[in-house]
Amino acid sequence: MDQNQMDFDIGADKLREECGVFGIYDFDGNDVASTIYYGLFALQHRGQESCGIAVSDTQGPKGKVGTHKGMGLCNEVFTTEILEQMHGNIGVGHVRYSTAGSSTRENAQPLVLNYIKGTLALAHNGNLVNAPQLRHELEYTGAIFQTTIDSEVIAYHIARARVNTPSVESAVSLAMKKLKGAYSLVIMSPRKLIGARDPFGFKPLCIGKRDNAYILASETCALDTIGAEFVRDVEPGEIVTITKDGIVSDREMCPKDPAREARCIFEYIYFARPDSVFDGVSVYHARIQAGRFLAMDAPVEADLVVGVPESGNGAALGYSMESGVPYGTAFVKNSYVGRTFIKPKQSSRESAVRIKLNVLREAVAGKRVIMIDDSIVRGTTSALIVNMLRDAGAIQVHVRISAPPFLHPCYFGTDIPSEDQLIAHGHTVDEIRRIIGADSLSFLQTERLHEMAAGKPVCMACFNGVYPIEPPSADIRGTYEK
Ligand code: SF4
Repeated sequence: MDQNQMDFDIGADKLREECGVFGIYDFDGNDVASTIYYGLFALQHRGQESCGIAVSDTQGPKGKVGTHKGMGLCNEVFTTEILEQMHGNIGVGHVRYSTAGSSTRENAQPLVLNYIKGTLALAHNGNLVNAPQLRHELEYTGAIFQTTIDSEVIAYHIARARVNTPSVESAVSLAMKKLKGAYSLVIMSPRKLIGARDPFGFKPLCIGKRDNAYILASETCALDTIGAEFVRDVEPGEIVTITKDGIVSDREMCPKDPAREARCIFEYIYFARPDSVFDGVSVYHARIQAGRFLAMDAPVEADLVVGVPESGNGAALGYSMESGVPYGTAFVKNSYVGRTFIKPKQSSRESAVRIKLNVLREAVAGKRVIMIDDSIVRGTTSALIVNMLRDAGAIQVHVRISAPPFLHPCYFGTDIPSEDQLIAHGHTVDEIRRIIGADSLSFLQTERLHEMAAGKPVCMACFNGVYPIEPPSADIRGTYEK
């Protein structure tokens, strides 16, 4: 594979999460916009294309919502002045990376909807598999959509249901009966903050508390960042309604058999921050475990084990702990490669991967190195990194991947490319080893994924093709643009 071909885009060989959500209700009446900002900042790894905040005053006139959203990172979209002008003690926020719906300002969330019963602001993480049908249903009855995202379909269904139900939470419950797919929702009505998670629990959502305020967030790292204590996770299928009187839980949609739950295993492998705890399982611990399993199942004699930063580091440490091979640092990462990074032209001598990652020659020269990464998607970046280690003097490079090979697309919010672009689709492990230029290559065994998540039921459809929900007959990802 030629170098320019491999360098076309460092981001193209990494998977991206779709979204992060955050909500807060301060019963003492304090403004919450800046807290939401810091919460979103902690969730920035879940989405870097757009972000937004909507706030309201629970004592003020119903329907008055202050919203600001835009394209870019939190610190590009928000300034101190903007946050200071956003008054309200209840609010929701969102960071987004698009898989369904194009990357435009209109598609940025939270979505704010004015309807007969007042205002609804909604932030959504996940993808619906029946969004096109639900959207057509609504369009036939006259609905006009302003965005191309499935989150608007959810918002409309809640608004419709609200007309015939006594409360917004019962409208959420009614709407959930129609939704199929992955969704963790944070919803603000004029006097309530609501969190809901799909019955499979694909995406995380947790509850926190700080003084006299309750918080909902995609990950516990956002609670730590704002100094809130973790209360509990929202359960798969649960709706929690936060009002001045406390938290009310509706578990009608929770699966009767917990074995039907299907947390996205890739949250543990790669998406979530290592300092987060998802459904009682530490992400850091899960990654250490993955490394231990690799050491048990695919041992090799070597002088050094290193992780490809950041998500390979935990598994590399686990591998070292289990095998006794010393753990070290081989890569220095330049963290300033942001969204607006000007990618080098294919014809130029610079490489996007080399700009982002450099090898510590002193650490690897003359050594047999085990390199741990979290995944191989197309194989382009892995090939380049192996090559960089060899250039720096490594005498052997053994690659261990803390996930099984990707074989199938995801319909629940992860941008796994189509099968023909996945290197593991149509290549044996040994062929992949040759393509990336490694001395040996092993993947985590699929059977280990349950253990990695401490026995919790997980989705691993992208690895084994067993989808918790029947996938759509056609690839609907990005459907609305067609
Ligand atoms: S298919 Fe893969 S990426 Fe998608 S939800 Fe399941 S485990 Fe996560």
